[in-house]
Amino acid sequence: MSSDGSAVLPNGGTADAADCPSARSSRDHAGLRTEVRGASAIPRISDTGTALADATNDLRPNGGTAPQVHARLRDAIAEHERSCRPRRRVAVLGSTGSIGTQTLDVARRHPDRLEIVALAAGTRVDELLAQAREFGVCHLAVGDERLAKEPVADDLRAQVGKGSLGFGADAVAALVQLPEADVVVNALVGAAGLRASYETLAAGKVLALANKESLVVGGDLIMPLAAQVDARRRVGGMSPATGPAGALMPIDSEHGAIYQCLLGEDPREVARLWVTASGGPFRGRTRAELADITPAQALAHPTWNMGAKISIDSSTLMNKGLEVIEAHHLFALPYDRISVVVQPQSAIHSMVEFADGSVKAHLGTTDMRIPIQFALSYPERWDAPVAPLDFRTLGSLEFAAPDEDTFRCLALARAAGERGGTLPCVMNAANEVAVAAFLAGEGSYLGIAACVEAVMDAHEQGGAGGVQRVESLRQLEGLDAWARMEARRNLA
Ligand code: MG
Repeated sequence: MSSDGSAVLPNGGTADAADCPSARSSRDHAGLRTEVRGASAIPRISDTGTALADATNDLRPNGGTAPQVHARLRDAIAEHERSCRPRRRVAVLGSTGSIGTQTLDVARRHPDRLEIVALAAGTRVDELLAQAREFGVCHLAVGDERLAKEPVADDLRAQVGKGSLGFGADAVAALVQLPEADVVVNALVGAAGLRASYETLAAGKVLALANKESLVVGGDLIMPLAAQVDARRRVGGMSPATGPAGALMPIDSEHGAIYQCLLGEDPREVARLWVTASGGPFRGRTRAELADITPAQALAHPTWNMGAKISIDSSTLMNKGLEVIEAHHLFALPYDRISVVVQPQSAIHSMVEFADGSVKAHLGTTDMRIPIQFALSYPERWDAPVAPLDFRTLGSLEFAAPDEDTFRCLALARAAGERGGTLPCVMNAANEVAVAAFLAGEGSYLGIAACVEAVMDAHEQGGAGGVQRVESLRQLEGLDAWARMEARRNLA
């Protein structure tokens, strides 16, 4: 929250989107009737009757057998009910980053299904303002408190009207409490996203998770909360009759792929998860060839368009290590049943092997808008704003084992996950500091793994009380701070 008191605080939910001066422009943008939300969102018997009459008229000239007629009627009713469903109201944390802007692309494509109700950004306030104007959003938060005193803050205040505007980490986290939001897309970068994930689920909302560090650091806290929300969604009839209840939807492409491969399957029959990796831009290189790598070289990912931190993590394979830990928590499988395979074309987004040796793979275009959209559409599938995969031009699919001797971050992350407790938190914090130093030109590329290993060793040897069971956010915040200090000392 702003320290100068000038910011309008998130109001805990008394303001409705209708109070927002831009709410109507949002609906105009969406081309929707105002009654799409609220009581009229429930299909009325008269509407269903009209749909049946329309369907019957459609059927008359076509004829068909009784089962065909029944199938058409069933489809017509299902489509009508679908069109009457209220839009999912989405808060996007990290809205000006790579995942955030692609989430808004998905919302642009589906204005009848998604409504953006809250946005949070770190520092890019001009972009945030433009997004808020386009989508008519009147609940905003800016991570950087210093920006509360900048002239653009007045424009943001004018935009939100009777809504809410806050500055600082508390304001970002407060957005997840808004009663106007059903789903929170957490696209914050790094361990800073953990609190928002925790509070989203604690508030009983759906978490669409791009911030994998939430699970790496706090999976032991997040997953029990997600199970509680799943149970409530089942009781309340808000989840599909079968399959996952959908409280925690992974946006990470690999985990979204595994999630889809598991639909309709018995989790007890899963033998192994195959998490695919592109191998990053330095696949095939030796350690000696990595010594002089520059940030610009490491930022050039071969297949996915992503933010800076995750691009560096992808090049060191730390990203894959974080994803192994993420998969362990999401799918409740031990580490010896989660394998990584390099698939350089990134056409296979991950695979699940079953007890009988069958393997299901998820394939698709390498466009993050597909997994983002699935996280928001589940259990439905909607048209995607991307070109489908053309197998005729795909060429060959290659597979290889990852080189964990050269790309040591993968082995370090797996070791941290297997040891468990607070070691992944410490490992992740050290990696964030080392990556930031490398991007700032203050550390070497190979120094990232060296720093992570040194800080992990220090924790395992009793530093900060030694590796312990995860018990609270406060405990994790303390260990995160200790690990960052240790990492800076190591890099100095
Ligand atoms: Mg991924």
